[in-house]
Amino acid sequence: MGARTGKEYIERLRASRRTVQLDGETLSSGIPDHPAFRGVVRSYAELYDMQHETELRDVLTYESPSSGDRVGMSFMVPRTIDDLLRRREAMKAWADHSFGMLGRTGDYLNSALMALSQAGPWFAQADPGFAENVRAYYERVREQDLLLTHTLVPPQSNRSQGASQQLGGAVSARIVREDEGGVVIRGARLLATIGPTADELLVFPSTVLKGTPEDAPYSFAFAVSCDAPGLRFLCREPLDHGRGRFDRPLASRFDEMDAVVVFDDVHVPYERCFMLGHPELCNTFYTDTTAAVHMTHQVTARTTAKTEFMLGLITCLTEAIGIGQFQHVQENVAEAIIALEQLRALVRAAEADASANEFGVMTPRWEPLNAARNWYPKLYQRFPEILRKLGASGLMALPSEGDVRGPAAEDVQAYLQSATLSGPERVRLFHLVWDTCISAFGSRQALYEYYFFGDPVRMAGAFVGSYDREPYAARVRDFLERSGEPVPAA
Ligand SMILES: Cc1cc2nc3c(=O)[nH]c(=O)nc-3n(C[C@H](O)[C@H](O)[C@H](O)COP(=O)(O)OP(=O)(O)OC[C@H]3O[C@@H](n4cnc5c(N)ncnc54)[C@H](O)[C@@H]3O)c2cc1C
Repeated sequence: MGARTGKEYIERLRASRRTVQLDGETLSSGIPDHPAFRGVVRSYAELYDMQHETELRDVLTYESPSSGDRVGMSFMVPRTIDDLLRRREAMKAWADHSFGMLGRTGDYLNSALMALSQAGPWFAQADPGFAENVRAYYERVREQDLLLTHTLVPPQSNRSQGASQQLGGAVSARIVREDEGGVVIRGARLLATIGPTADELLVFPSTVLKGTPEDAPYSFAFAVSCDAPGLRFLCREPLDHGRGRFDRPLASRFDEMDAVVVFDDVHVPYERCFMLGHPELCNTFYTDTTAAVHMTHQVTARTTAKTEFMLGLITCLTEAIGIGQFQHVQENVAEAIIALEQLRALVRAAEADASANEFGVMTPRWEPLNAARNWYPKLYQRFPEILRKLGASGLMALPSEGDVRGPAAEDVQAYLQSATLSGPERVRLFHLVWDTCISAFGSRQALYEYYFFGDPVRMAGAFVGSYDREPYAARVRDFLERSGEPVPAA
């Protein structure tokens, strides 16, 4: 089958019978047409359609080594630096389509799965069957172009305790029994973004939480179909309130639903299991396989697109109301430019210094990408702040589309025009600014960027722990030794 069209994605979703709990209702069908999902489903469908556009086909797809069909570029196993650049170009093209507002486009987890599929010997430490399972699963996802999401973190009951201790161990998803065909899972995981609209759910270890030997029943990596019997998605309030594209240009298109995942004795066949038990291996799941590096490569393509959008939006805003000549405004514009250039530099450094990992996969250098991964969650918070400061009360002088096209149209034309825009044009621009920095959608984006890859505080700790600082400390010690009379040692 190979790379899907948007229609094929929607048809598969429409045929699926899953359990989605939303605002007091239990939905089992009709997801693509439901008001909470139809905007984002349409946006995802557009991404799949892009794979078939003549000028993008070679950017977004390549020839499958098994079937010869065109398949998504994010599945390609990179062997050269040029392959890495091709992967990034494809990821950037998708990210540009949503200004980086869609965090769970398929290329994010396809990148992880690609790396995992090549790390057979690492999985074989636990069971040679797992190595085969992950490879076969990767091929299936690639050939059917399935959309994956993941859930990694136990519920937020009591963070002073590990998963095995929270409320007597009965809250977090765990293996309650094994049978001949696989395992049975009961409990919950904190969150799966796009769970209600994805095809498959990866239930993987956390990127930062570390398991102990007692956490063995809570330590696993497997995949389930989003319509697996017993699986339920418990959704937050939708952020697309049906206000349309003029009033909510982003929320109406890109509201990726977040949902708690409940496993009510979900049976997972053995062939979908990639790790069972082995907390110590789960703790190094992403690093030893280099999945984290390839995921971050995708993330930086997306955050580059998002930063370009921020720079563009700040520029349109300052031009519209004639504030671009003020020095403090220029300082804010410079902040966005510097952020963009630093991000690009980190990505290029990681690609230029790439090397093959132990499984023969060309892998960007981790430290620059890890720096970007640690930096962006905090950096992103500045953009809404800058937009609010520069937009000021203009963000409140914001009639809706109904006013722009209705009885207030003359007032909008007369009094809401700006230095460079007509009244309706200014209102349209300011709705985009609003949806980026004030609306519930905008707030969720800020929270997403801060947390989606894990708690930045603990990511920083992991970065410090893994970064080789010794050469620099040695230089300092050497300087101290050289710079005067010896002093008594400790
Ligand atoms: C919009 C959004 C979408 C998401 N989508 C997904 C998804 O699709 N799949 C998925 O698996 N996850 C998803 N996540 C969850 C994400 O992985 C977590 O938010 C992240 O790992 C942090 O964990 P937490 O939210 O449970 O915070 P907590 O761990 O509960 O932390 C709460 C606060 O306490 C502090 N804290 C807690 N424990 C410690 C500690 N041991 N040491 C120091 N400080 C501590 C934290 O610094 C933080 O300030 C999403 C999150 C958001 C916000």
